[in-house]
Amino acid sequence: MKILIAADMEGITGVVHWDQVNPKHIEYPRFRKLITADVNAAIRGAFAGGATSVTVTDGHHDGRNIMIEELDPRASLTSGSPAPLSMVNGVDDDVDGVMFIGYHGRMGAANAILDHTWSDEIVSGLWINDRAFGEVGLNGAVCGHFDVPIIMASGDQTLCAEVRDFFGDKIETAQIKKALGRMAAECLPPAQTSSLIEEVSKRSVVNLKSGTAPKPFKVTKPITMTLEFVQSNMADRAAILPNARRTDGRRVEYSADDMVTIYMAFRTMIAMTS
Ligand SMILES: [Zn+2]
Repeated sequence: MKILIAADMEGITGVVHWDQVNPKHIEYPRFRKLITADVNAAIRGAFAGGATSVTVTDGHHDGRNIMIEELDPRASLTSGSPAPLSMVNGVDDDVDGVMFIGYHGRMGAANAILDHTWSDEIVSGLWINDRAFGEVGLNGAVCGHFDVPIIMASGDQTLCAEVRDFFGDKIETAQIKKALGRMAAECLPPAQTSSLIEEVSKRSVVNLKSGTAPKPFKVTKPITMTLEFVQSNMADRAAILPNARRTDGRRVEYSADDMVTIYMAFRTMIAMTS
């Protein structure tokens, strides 16, 4: 049983501000340790639940946050950027289940710590087949393309509700903070979050083995993505992508038959804005 841990940073233990997840800020080294600790807890739980192999993908910023020198020696780490499948790199490599660790609510969600979708300076909204998506839905649909389910997630209460909304009530969730807004939360300390994440991770792998984990999340084909940018000049640039359609001042639409192509178009259009 092979597990992929897709890690982000805004939903990690104690994080409530951008400075804490910004490599240039003095607070960042503390939170590198905390993302590594949250990921290690998930790794321990996965093996305790019966995983035979665990690989971790570091999906925040430039993918260089998790400290390999402190990583559980049984796991491997995909570090650096860009990896071919970005935040869920490795999902195409015979993976049985994916865990979202340190995830966050989509751009615009209320009471969600650092809510955003990819970049809050670039993306103001994302819809797939007219449904509002954040990183949960987007990355979950890429995993679904490879027939791999999301089996657990950790983050605040809004993230936990978002994953249940997308993947159903069978997903296991570790709520490690209660957001009181975008940049304030009631946070559990690492001594509590480690055991919570470990326990939930273990349960999710046991569920996967017994056939009670969520099913892979699939979007209906053909797939149409609408990407709304913060500024119209970003849409000017993104609309240059062949087959993209400008639909509004800040909106560009793109259609494809498969989710990986949509994911690549999404990432390409964002890269084109700068
Ligand atoms: Zn993110």
